[in-house]
Amino acid sequence: MGKVKKGVKCSINGCNNLAIKSLSKDELSKGGLKVLSEGRRAYLCDTHYKLWKKGAKKSKELERIRYGL
Ligand SMILES: [Zn+2]
Repeated sequence: MGKVKKGVKCSINGCNNLAIKSLSKDELSKGGLKVLSEGRRAYLCDTHYKLWKKGAKKSKELERIRYGL
């Protein structure tokens, strides 16, 4: 999960904020976010990164429940 070059925009549709984080699309889908961008990487701004973190946490908890861990 590297840092993002300056000037890269958030990959979420309709969002024009500058990205602060780069994630793979697999990671992104864990957080319930989807992007339409090309390639395997997606970029998130501060706002969407926080949203993603919330979603990813939730899906981890769901997994735990599902597998009885
Ligand atoms: Zn964004």
